[in-house]
Amino acid sequence: MNKRILFFIIFMMLSGLCLFIRCTNNSNNDNPDTQDINVNKDKDQNKLANSSIADSIADVVKTPPEYSAYELALMKKGFVDVLSLDSTLKTDLRYAGDQNFTNEILYDSIQHCFLLKEVGEMLVEAHQTLKSKDSTVRFLLLDCLRPNHVQHKMWDLVRGTDEQKYVASPHKGSMHNYGTAVDLTLVDLDGKELDLGSAFDDFSNLAQPRHELGLLKDGKISREALDRRWMLKTSMKAAGFRTIQTEWWHYNAFHKDVVRSRYEMIK
Ligand SMILES: [Zn+2]
Repeated sequence: MNKRILFFIIFMMLSGLCLFIRCTNNSNNDNPDTQDINVNKDKDQNKLANSSIADSIADVVKTPPEYSAYELALMKKGFVDVLSLDSTLKTDLRYAGDQNFTNEILYDSIQHCFLLKEVGEMLVEAHQTLKSKDSTVRFLLLDCLRPNHVQHKMWDLVRGTDEQKYVASPHKGSMHNYGTAVDLTLVDLDGKELDLGSAFDDFSNLAQPRHELGLLKDGKISREALDRRWMLKTSMKAAGFRTIQTEWWHYNAFHKDVVRSRYEMIK
């Protein structure tokens, strides 16, 4: 056989083998705890570094999440990045940027949605229910675990203003401070936010489930927006979450007395 043809066949076989190794490792990349897998991945990257095939594959390899020291400490305490449980969830933590009611960046050490593991599993179940109701929508997570020191920052910004009544006192603590509450809305498959009748952190009656029927009657909220709110609500309640009367986007996993007696507030 011509040597060039033989060399080409061997090269293609080795490339196929490398591709196989690469793909089997990628299936585990969502798990942040698998450091040994990441080491293997680095070795594979070295092997393939000079290959144009490797370069094209590298473009589509999902980058493992990078966690801050604070987030790694949360994981040791039993909190989980919910995207590691369900990669089809979407996140846009509003207090990690300045697009929130304070217009300030409040999170310096949290960039991922962390919840207590059992609460994260409830959220995944609710997301599956939502997708079974409408395969064209997804959850967009707006706030998850919020450390108590951030609650203090928020409190200081609203104290003495009309907005104070909408922010939980940091002394008693918000359910977010325990990683047992989540704020969320709905997006389409392109990640575009859907209309649920008001913006997140709207402090008017538009945001309050207790006024929904009146708002619908007065034409202040559309039937479609209200249907989406109720689809979100029925999906969350089916997984065991509880609503509150003042914010359509906020859900508690457990009664607050249970949370305060059983779980640790994160400082
Ligand atoms: Zn909330």
